Amino acid sequence: MSIFSHPNVAGTPAQDSPESFVRERLAALKAADGHRALKTPRGVDLSSNDYLGLSRHPAVIKGIFEAVEKYGAGSGGSRLLGGNLPLHEEVEETLARLKGREAALLFNSGYQGNVGILSALAGPGDQVFSDKLNHASIVDGIRLSKARIFAYRHCDMNDLEGDLKRHPTRSRSAKRLIVTDTVFSMDGDIAPLKDLVFLAKRYGAMLMVDEAHATGVFGPTGAGISEMLGVSGDVTLALGTCGKAMGVFGAYVVCDKEMRDYLINHARSFIFSTSLPPAVLGGILAAVDVIKGEPERRERLLERAAGVREELQEAGIDTLKSESQIVPVILGSESRALEFSRGLAEEGFDVRAVRPPTVPKGTSRLRLSLNASVAEEDLRRAVETIIRLYKEGV
Ligand code: PMP
Repeated sequence: MSIFSHPNVAGTPAQDSPESFVRERLAALKAADGHRALKTPRGVDLSSNDYLGLSRHPAVIKGIFEAVEKYGAGSGGSRLLGGNLPLHEEVEETLARLKGREAALLFNSGYQGNVGILSALAGPGDQVFSDKLNHASIVDGIRLSKARIFAYRHCDMNDLEGDLKRHPTRSRSAKRLIVTDTVFSMDGDIAPLKDLVFLAKRYGAMLMVDEAHATGVFGPTGAGISEMLGVSGDVTLALGTCGKAMGVFGAYVVCDKEMRDYLINHARSFIFSTSLPPAVLGGILAAVDVIKGEPERRERLLERAAGVREELQEAGIDTLKSESQIVPVILGSESRALEFSRGLAEEGFDVRAVRPPTVPKGTSRLRLSLNASVAEEDLRRAVETIIRLYKEGV
């Protein structure tokens, strides 16, 4: 018998395979109520990010078909190698105009945008100051950059300023970057953007904001929190996504022309990936028109969110500091959040439980994600069900 076929080489117990950790880790997750499984949406949608219901809007669907008929199915390559259609540039100009900025650059998703931009802007020796509750794609982008990360307490400007003051850059060429979500994806609260602009200027830092959950929902023309607070021109870059309120797919960053040029040359997730296909681009163009032309959708959405929060809070339910269409229902343990989600499913509602590691331990919750196209009556019944489960002591 050769040593290669010996079952117990290097002291490994014979029954262990190199993959045995897979089964062990899955079992550990299940034991801690932390296991996640894919579920097809069923029932009234209170969990997707299709906030304005645009994924089924006739104009968006028409835009998709028209683009496919004109340009075909795939883009054919990366932007720098044959995949740069006139439609990409038209979409970028449209998005830059929506956001009141000089330029825009498309990415294939928000995840790829954050990872590509952060790793292009920062490197070893640089500093990135990041809100503790920023989206995972921001965290991963900073890790990839190898910059030093300072994770400041959630929306705590004193903590951020303390870090900026205590840790001057080691060399004159070292860069500093502050990065934040504008609407936080799991808490539904809003970053203090004016203060962030002030601190960025004061301490010589670039400022990057992620408007994934704000675009289409906040601001007079739906351009996001930067627009609502009048600071669009004061942030270095603003990322937006097209798979949430726009109802389609993809992402973009708005910035000045020089920064766009820099990213085309340095953001690896942009350079080395096939560009978005015509169908997606046609859908985005139409969605921007709907966002500009039908402001009543976002007004209705935010009114509903305010009403839902009020009712839940009156019943004694903690909705944190939500000010948006994302309303957390804080329940504590993983098992309780799961039970609530099941209880709502029995009544015909799709509301997902969110557990660690997505949220901190002890803050497992339902993530109520409101949607302008859900019937008023259904929403009322969903809120009643949550309050009933809460009062029954589930
Ligand atoms: N940023 C934030 C704040 C998000 O919530 C998300 C998606 N949940 C992303 C980025 C990633 O966007 P995408 O889904 O387009 O990859």
